[in-house]
Amino acid sequence: MDTKRCADCAEDMKLEARKCPRCGARTEPLHRDMEGKKLAGVCAALGRELGVDAALLRVGFVVALAVSGGTALMVYLLLWAFTPPSAVGRAPLQRAVDWLGSVGGSEEPRVERRV
Ligand SMILES: [Zn+2]
Repeated sequence: MDTKRCADCAEDMKLEARKCPRCGARTEPLHRDMEGKKLAGVCAALGRELGVDAALLRVGFVVALAVSGGTALMVYLLLWAFTPPSAVGRAPLQRAVDWLGSVGGSEEPRVERRV
């Protein structure tokens, strides 16, 4: 059987385990799941995070979309922007923030000297 190792206590556990059985550390951060990828995987990631069936979230999202129209779509896009594509990936928004930070940081701060 395939196992993986806890990053915190080096305990071996099942590959599909979400939490370490020994120290309880989470084995993966919130991320979009490539396996259950529908609607960009946001529902799958949210469902895993909340312990809710992703199918239920999808139904809820579709209903919300039908009722509120653009609002649900905006919420969905926001969730997508905040969720990295994989456990090791970075959220699209985070990349944008980093890029803005690097652009802003390259400018020399102007110090005005008065004698
Ligand atoms: Zn552990």
